[in-house]
Amino acid sequence: MIRIALPNKGRLAESARELLERAGLEFDARSERALQASLGGDFVALFVRAEDIPEFVADGAADVGITGRDLVAESGRPVETLLELGFGRCRLAVAVREESPVQSVAELPAGTRVATSFPRLTERFFAEAGRPVVIVPVSGAAEIAPHLGVADIIVDLVSTGSTLKVNGLRELATILESSAVLIGRPGVQAEAEAGRRVRELVAALESVLRAQDKRYLMANVPRRALPEIKRILPGINGPTIVDVMDSGEFVAAHAVVDRRDIYRVIADLKELGAEGILVTKIERLMP
Ligand code: AMP
Repeated sequence: MIRIALPNKGRLAESARELLERAGLEFDARSERALQASLGGDFVALFVRAEDIPEFVADGAADVGITGRDLVAESGRPVETLLELGFGRCRLAVAVREESPVQSVAELPAGTRVATSFPRLTERFFAEAGRPVVIVPVSGAAEIAPHLGVADIIVDLVSTGSTLKVNGLRELATILESSAVLIGRPGVQAEAEAGRRVRELVAALESVLRAQDKRYLMANVPRRALPEIKRILPGINGPTIVDVMDSGEFVAAHAVVDRRDIYRVIADLKELGAEGILVTKIERLMP
């Protein structure tokens, strides 16, 4: 059995579950509030706090896990990053009060008090910057600390920046860019049996991630326009051209197109006399 540690709540929980489902790992219906769920085949999910996942994976209580790069870095635990998953993007940032005259980390006076739930990364960042600070550990809602007078500045995760704004705070520096990652226990990929399953999982997730920004486009196009069609439709190895039965004038062109290019490609195809244009999502893509 391959044990996959997944966040039981919070920003990453839903996306992690969705990604595994898209890769074909089905959670059984009773798993909504369970601590553990069979994913069919050789996989079982363990639902734990996102913060604890690096620890569980490093200890071997789970073989792999999905959590934030920020939490992996903060844990300082020896785990292997197997795949970048692209969701849960945020940054760990230093923020000061809006009205503070400070414009850079170098201007922070010695002994500045920093409220954060990332004490290790914060400590290291300020030590490397040569600014001795006092860490005020909090378990969340650091942004309130400067207003309560328990800290001068904060180090916290920022996504859109609106939480900082409504709390009258201004970003000063970025410590780390983060997003969700698949991590593995040390050496798992090199193992014969578990390693093969983990590599299969990585390949499946990769194929889903690769597919999500692509679309499959089909159109009936005039045979005479084929040279131009080939320029518009790159495909993976150029478009696939198929004869349409009883239609001498038209052929069907199929291609994988970047999601962001679909709008332009459709317009260009119509200019060339294309008909019956069909665009579908792709579930998995393995080049
Ligand atoms: P925002 O207002 O969009 O900048 O979001 C900031 C708030 O959401 C802070 O309280 C953060 O701790 C939290 N946050 C933002 N992104 C993430 C993330 N990827 N993972 C966990 N917490 C996050």
